[in-house]
Amino acid sequence: MEENKNEEKSGIPIPQVFLNTDTGGPIERCIQCDYQVLDGGRHYMIEKVFKRYPEFKKTEVLFEYAICSKCYEEMKEAMSAESMQNLSAYMMGNMNFSQLQQRMEEEPDNPDHWLSSCLIKGTPKEELREYQMGACFKGDRLVMDMMPPFLIGEMALEELNALLSKETKDEMDGFMGDHFGIPPELRKDLILI
Ligand SMILES: [Zn+2]
Repeated sequence: MEENKNEEKSGIPIPQVFLNTDTGGPIERCIQCDYQVLDGGRHYMIEKVFKRYPEFKKTEVLFEYAICSKCYEEMKEAMSAESMQNLSAYMMGNMNFSQLQQRMEEEPDNPDHWLSSCLIKGTPKEELREYQMGACFKGDRLVMDMMPPFLIGEMALEELNALLSKETKDEMDGFMGDHFGIPPELRKDLILI
């Protein structure tokens, strides 16, 4: 990825929802290669998976991690060509990007507002039981380079999961198992987008 030194302080600070749930500080390292993401040399993605228990008014973070652009590209390359094509066709055909853009224009400094409903189905966050959130960062800033910030709810995650080849599912199972000790039956909660 091309690095542009002139855009160093563009973007907004890391929103609270993307901070480390345990420490309350930024997530500091790439989960795969240990690269110090705050150094700002490489872009990185932060992904988090949430589970809501409305009956207990509780939201739990199931997993969270940062992955640097280098490892992200490698993961993508490890996915089968068929899965990649299916995923990008689905995203292009189904994501409601104009709604996201509108929200960002309405409240440019309020990422909670941008991420208040599913990017695919439009379901409000309060009606979801499970959702995944992600965004791209450089140093301590949220940027739009690799991917706009997104929230994807359980229905869209299921549809995305159904598009993955067996090979790709095995690859993701390995990633989740290695890093989180997550058994394959729970892996479907996370799709590398
Ligand atoms: Zn890495």
